[in-house]
Amino acid sequence: MAREGLAAVLNAPGEDVAVEEILLDPPGPGEVQVRLAASGVCHTDLTVKNQNGAGMKFPIVLGHEGAGWVEEVGEGVTHLQPGDPVVIAYRAPCGQCPACRRGDPRHCYMALRPGIRLHRKRDGAPCSQVLRCGTFATHTNVHGAAAIKMPPGMPLDKACLIACGVITGVGAAFNTSPVFPGASVAVVGCGGVGLSVIQGAKLANARQIIGVDVNPVKLDWARKFGATDVVDARAGDPVAAVRALVKDPWPAYEGGVDFAYEATGRMECIEQAVRMVNYNGIATTIGFPGPDDTVTLNVGNIDTGVYWNKVNLRVCHAGDTLPSWDFPLLAQFYLEGKLDLDSMVTGVISLSDVEQAFHAMEHENVIRSVIRF
Ligand SMILES: [Zn+2]
Ligand SMILES: [Zn+2]
Repeated sequence: MAREGLAAVLNAPGEDVAVEEILLDPPGPGEVQVRLAASGVCHTDLTVKNQNGAGMKFPIVLGHEGAGWVEEVGEGVTHLQPGDPVVIAYRAPCGQCPACRRGDPRHCYMALRPGIRLHRKRDGAPCSQVLRCGTFATHTNVHGAAAIKMPPGMPLDKACLIACGVITGVGAAFNTSPVFPGASVAVVGCGGVGLSVIQGAKLANARQIIGVDVNPVKLDWARKFGATDVVDARAGDPVAAVRALVKDPWPAYEGGVDFAYEATGRMECIEQAVRMVNYNGIATTIGFPGPDDTVTLNVGNIDTGVYWNKVNLRVCHAGDTLPSWDFPLLAQFYLEGKLDLDSMVTGVISLSDVEQAFHAMEHENVIRSVIRF
């Protein structure tokens, strides 16, 4: 029996998001159906709208930062049962690609996806789901391996944040370029992802965490979430400012951080991150680039070139997460008071408010808007 639901849908290129009635087929083998409790609104959903579907077929059910309860399990699903609280992961490793086969599922080439089970009710059109999730909906169907069980007591309207923004930032500091105890860290861009990098660096016992942004509100957030210092990038060269701030036990030290994370998607910020790190330091780019975005890196300058400074540049995709390990861990950190998710929610909205949330994301100081169902 098909189940009826409601979803925030992109029906055609250039159109605003519309709330539509949907029909969900029962979950197929290995799949689960989830009744959503909450979903964060991530910038990637807006990107899908702005890029006219970003290659997906219309209609498209938006949303990929959701948490809820298992409603129904498909054939062969034994690790979950109806009523289980879950966060939906968009990168459940496939188990078959070369990375998975060599035991490195954090770098899986492709994620598991459900079959096409969602349809627009008025005409039966099959719906795409953003990042295999489609969480701007009262119900969705996902691959069983993508539904990650939450520990008892974990509030789902906070747990949802783990799925994208929080794991991307914390995972950059844990997995992509792991911060070691006593490290110095710079974070360029202190929005939701950058603040999560700051929280991850703090959890990893960084000695110094320097938040960099052009927005004073975001610099206040950075301090609140664990930055020991902040740099207003409007006030001069942020690279020089960061290097001047680095406090190192070795007095002859000339500055530069052990780790610099760029969480803006701006090319000049990648270049800045590269120039902020010390000898053998690691710069990590997290933000979404455009198709023609390019950076220029000096290689040979004896003082600042990437060769002589032995600079590493890494790319973080979704925090290089292994959701089945990372998501329950982050929930545990939340329950122990070590990971602040409460302060990341700057607005609670309903399903019909997605367009307003997109507008606020671009024009106001928002960390995360969360849809509650
Ligand atoms: Zn996202
Ligand atoms: Zn794989």
